[in-house]
Amino acid sequence: LARRSEAMDRNDDASELRRLSRHAYLQTRKEKKVDELRDEIVDHEFLFPGGFQLSAAEERDMRRKKEVYGLVQDRDKNNDGAGDDYYYRMPEAYDAAANIDQEKRFSVARRRYEEPEARDGKTAKAFTEQEAWEEQQIRKSMLQLGSTDRGRRGDEYELLFDDGVEFVRSSVMAGTVPDDAEAAMDAKATLQDERKTLPVYKLKDDLLKAIDEYQVLIIVGETGSGKTTQIPQYLHEAGYTAKGKKKVACTQPRRVAAMSVAARVAEEMGVKLGHEVGYSVRFEDCTSDKTVIKYMTDGMLLREFLGEPDLGSYSVVVIDEAHERTLSTDILFGLVKDIARFRPDLKLLISSATLNAEKFSDFFDSAPIFRIPGRRFDVAVHYTKAPEADYIDAAIVTVLQLHVTEPAASGDILLFLTGQEEIETVEEILRQRLRVLGGKVAELVICPIYANLPTELQAKIFEPAPEGARKVVLATNIAETSLTIDGIKYVVDPGFCKVKSYNPRTGMESLLVAPVSKASAEQRAGRSGRTGPGKCFRLYTEYNFLNDLDADTVPEIQRSNLANVVLALKTLGINDLVGFDFMDPPAAESLLKALEELFALGALNSRGELTKTGRRMAEFPLDPMLSKAIVASEKYGCSEEVITIAAMLSAGNAVFYRPKDKQVHADAARRAFHAAGNVGDHVALLNVYNAWRESGYSAQWCRESFVQHRTMRRARDVRGQLVALLERVEIAPCSAAGDLGAVRKAITAGYFRHAARLQRDGSYRAVKSRQTVFVHPSSGVAQAPPRWVVYHELVLTTKEYMRQVTELKPEWLVEIAPHYYERKD
Ligand code: ADP
Ligand code: MG
Repeated sequence: LARRSEAMDRNDDASELRRLSRHAYLQTRKEKKVDELRDEIVDHEFLFPGGFQLSAAEERDMRRKKEVYGLVQDRDKNNDGAGDDYYYRMPEAYDAAANIDQEKRFSVARRRYEEPEARDGKTAKAFTEQEAWEEQQIRKSMLQLGSTDRGRRGDEYELLFDDGVEFVRSSVMAGTVPDDAEAAMDAKATLQDERKTLPVYKLKDDLLKAIDEYQVLIIVGETGSGKTTQIPQYLHEAGYTAKGKKKVACTQPRRVAAMSVAARVAEEMGVKLGHEVGYSVRFEDCTSDKTVIKYMTDGMLLREFLGEPDLGSYSVVVIDEAHERTLSTDILFGLVKDIARFRPDLKLLISSATLNAEKFSDFFDSAPIFRIPGRRFDVAVHYTKAPEADYIDAAIVTVLQLHVTEPAASGDILLFLTGQEEIETVEEILRQRLRVLGGKVAELVICPIYANLPTELQAKIFEPAPEGARKVVLATNIAETSLTIDGIKYVVDPGFCKVKSYNPRTGMESLLVAPVSKASAEQRAGRSGRTGPGKCFRLYTEYNFLNDLDADTVPEIQRSNLANVVLALKTLGINDLVGFDFMDPPAAESLLKALEELFALGALNSRGELTKTGRRMAEFPLDPMLSKAIVASEKYGCSEEVITIAAMLSAGNAVFYRPKDKQVHADAARRAFHAAGNVGDHVALLNVYNAWRESGYSAQWCRESFVQHRTMRRARDVRGQLVALLERVEIAPCSAAGDLGAVRKAITAGYFRHAARLQRDGSYRAVKSRQTVFVHPSSGVAQAPPRWVVYHELVLTTKEYMRQVTELKPEWLVEIAPHYYERKD
């Protein structure tokens, strides 16, 4: 009993912490807005004197766009424009628009976390009405779970369900197959038989005929119908890979999906992964000369354009998961549409899981739409009776409720979470609670899946649970449409996901947890009805669903830093960015900001043309600032050190670990990597790598030093590739031999825009964005904050934290980036 209550205590602590931090987070958001507005008025300490010039035509176009977007301010209108810098006169109208958008996104979250008194009158009223309506619904509908169920549970569960989540069943998503079809679908024998049961199989001949007839084809079909795994195989069988040894490319928005699907297809074809079927993701190429079916991330195909602008080695390009509208996919749309015009032999397939295919068809000059009839059973959708204060806790309770009240044989559970950290937390709490329950309940196999999960563990989610046990898959929105997991009967949807958000005024990009769109919620629910009638439990009310969720997710291109893609487009010789064929054009401000950033980095000249530096930077599959640091390392004679640091930064954030029972040792080990004078985290990363190399890349050394071996292996891999790229841009390997000043200068040459200055209260002020930021507690400089720093990135948790921080001498800013910084007199 003592153990049990201890475990419960710990869980309570965790959820309380989560609730508090979320509250604090929303609070800081509010304050920050006020802060930013004030900053607009305050004089700028540093000036951006240069500014680049757009051609007269570009200028006109940009102005037209700005007008269309309603972004032109009065002083803009009276301004004849040429050569002025736009940035410090960024119209407030934009900000207002951005804020409204953010406000809307957060309305659900806030409503859930704010105290009821804090709600405004209107919302509160709506809630009362809503509650009354819900009460009525509860009486009307059969309760599947919740209060009436409580009596049925044995005493042993009482503690567990102290505050169970109550659901209201309110609608059914109609399926497309009769319920008795269930038995027939279970009878799968071999992999090849399994392939034949997929909906796309029946349409194979029609599909191939359509592909033969049309150059561009839009393919639409429910998730799991076989689009991703089957269509490239059909193309291979039909000879598209035979002629002149051309390949079929199939892009995926996520690396895990590309890898996992390639593995599956290799298995179905009975070949070794990397031979006929391979994949290519950033820093990992698993293909060979034999490869004819190549799964790749959309970002990788974009990079291939740089080396092969006509994609001459491909006969078919499948842009899969087009509905996701990732940044790279959107850019690919414009590029492939263009090359299709002068490569009549190239076939283009745009494949999507949503029904709204007309938009794709319109973009591709009215390309025909090929529909694969879906196969889905009815899904009963349940909503919570009242908003849940803590969705993590509600999710855990719901999973356990389902597990103990529904027979294990009935089917598996899929829970959608926002990211790795959250998945690991839930996994741990679930394990604790299951230990407490011991043998009283059936076994629950926990399968996490997220982007950085090691390949060995990725396959586990597809393995059926052992006899008598049940599987619960904890997934990010990768399981929404990219991966289909068979046997899921219950979906638990907290209604959140991580979204990238970008403020072009400050140039800040951050990942935020935000409510999903209605379209995503429907996709998630649909995942429960694949092999039989399913049930979806939404951890929010139906009122929230109907009134607070956006209909669709905003395309990533409209909420991203575009510096990377602008550099890629410029490298491809596409100079007229405003005239580029975007399906949904990005905000003019985002384009301008990207141009300005690249100009500041020296990648573009004042006419917006690519420079030699820019051309070299484009070779590296890294953020432009990091690429710039590498290119600049030539000048400071420290390319060896800088690529090591770049590799460590790219290998992931989990370099160190801190076991609970050895925290003191771990912290001491970590401090030891900081150079004398404690100049910063970049140098510490360099020291870790070099020490590991001296140990002969030893795993033993990693354990003793509290360093993650897996991260180090990856860093070594990435470093190897960066060495090859250095050679390609003709930068000789050179070492500064202990001159850490040189290394720090090279880093500053990339990151000078991320300079921050210590304030009297111990916080920092970002020089460029004038935001208040803090040193991340994990940073080595946190104990003795230097007056000036550069940081690698900002992460937003309870505060805006700088991660990977290095000390800076302010005179370096003027020396390294004289076009950007001026001494203030
Ligand atoms: P779609 O692209 O239309 O959503 P897929 O081709 O991804 O459909 O999936 C077709 C079938 O292949 C599904 O039943 C799915 O379960 C199975 N499948 C896909 N990837 C894997 C994998 N890595 N392991 C096992 N089965 C898989
Ligand atoms: Mg697919």
